[in-house]
Amino acid sequence: MTALKSISIADASRQEWDILVIGAGPAGTVAAHQAARSGLKTLLVEKKVFPRYKVCGGCLNQRAVNALQEAGLAAALDELDAVHLDQFEMRYQGRALKIPLPGGMAVSRSALDLQLVRMAQQSGVSFLAETKALVCNEAISGFTRKIDLYQQGALCGVARARAVLAADGLGHPSLKQCGEFESKISHDSRIGAGVILPGDQISDYPAGTIHMAIHRHGYVGLARVEANQLNVASAIDREFIKHQQSPNAAVISIMEESGFSVPPVMRSMNLKGTIPLTRKTVRPASHRLLLVGDAAGYLEPFTGEGMSNAISEGVAAVRIASNGLQDWDQSLEQQWLHTHQTLTEGRSHWCRYLSQLLRSPTAINVGLRLFRWFPNMARPIVASLNH
Ligand SMILES: Cc1cc2nc3c(=O)[nH]c(=O)nc-3n(C[C@H](O)[C@H](O)[C@H](O)COP(=O)(O)OP(=O)(O)OC[C@H]3O[C@@H](n4cnc5c(N)ncnc54)[C@H](O)[C@@H]3O)c2cc1C
Repeated sequence: MTALKSISIADASRQEWDILVIGAGPAGTVAAHQAARSGLKTLLVEKKVFPRYKVCGGCLNQRAVNALQEAGLAAALDELDAVHLDQFEMRYQGRALKIPLPGGMAVSRSALDLQLVRMAQQSGVSFLAETKALVCNEAISGFTRKIDLYQQGALCGVARARAVLAADGLGHPSLKQCGEFESKISHDSRIGAGVILPGDQISDYPAGTIHMAIHRHGYVGLARVEANQLNVASAIDREFIKHQQSPNAAVISIMEESGFSVPPVMRSMNLKGTIPLTRKTVRPASHRLLLVGDAAGYLEPFTGEGMSNAISEGVAAVRIASNGLQDWDQSLEQQWLHTHQTLTEGRSHWCRYLSQLLRSPTAINVGLRLFRWFPNMARPIVASLNH
């Protein structure tokens, strides 16, 4: 696999960009690709070394697959040997429920995000790798925004752009110099933890199914991705992790109690964690700056909405920002608030209900019984999450 080509920090600082995108997750890569395809001079800045691991279930629902298709990026999934999903199996206290899925694909985030960066570069995006971007806190006026560029902890350059899209994920770390982007973190927000395991050491967990172990203190999702690897991702109450004394012990306890087998390799797995997940940025827009994807806010990942929201927001943010490159008008910020509300918050009512229901043992038991007796009841929920 050839390494990604990066422009130099000197080159990135010398020019004025139409759009500067911070973060090469699905929101950032799709936005950068879209901007370059519209003829805009686009810089994508990423702090990590790619390919990089990201805690995620790796499951794109049907809406995410459609959104990639509409953005002209569906080839990414074919080239990566992504696995088709057709079933969701959840287990709670030894009882199982299987629900057919209308479509969807599973792929590791390291492979997907790397491929999306490559495709963005092919469409004309300049990629600045291994560089941390920090948006400067300057007066709310002017034709550009300035972004400090750090490599190995040292300030090495300053880039200027007519519009900045902060697609830097949970907690929007690129905005820490700007005081105005307050986040509200839910009091019962869970911690994410995940890992990718080599498939040859695990015989259970067939490809094509999302296996979900449910527990009142969290859940663990397992899905086969490319090369038969097993992607493990969980969201767990902070108190439960403390009580179990480690994220590994918490994951294993959830799987055992739900009735899933625990392959021996999982007992010594090296889980990576996240900051608390459920949060919302009070106002995800400012002068020549829009917050996109998880940077704008995040609900629990149970229903696989994360990447589909990130992709749809990436496309929509470019449409709005490109209208303000000459004259930025505050009405564009209002437009973004409305669009973000419609694309993400307005769609998340099922995620909200489900994540609350799954915290109550009685509700889980009643739900499991209802869905087993009346399997058609699950269809409208699954459909609304996938379209
Ligand atoms: C446990 C768990 C399971 C999940 N399962 C699923 C699932 O199955 N399906 C699904 O659709 N969603 C799932 N999600 C949600 C999904 O992972 C996110 O919604 C999605 O990654 C959001 O994409 P993004 O582009 O907004 O941010 P991210 O993917 O987080 O990308 C942000 C990027 O910005 C970079 N960055 C950060 N700060 C800077 C900086 N200062 N300068 C430069 N670069 C920076 C980061 O390195 C990163 O590459 C899950 C999440 C969790 C925690």
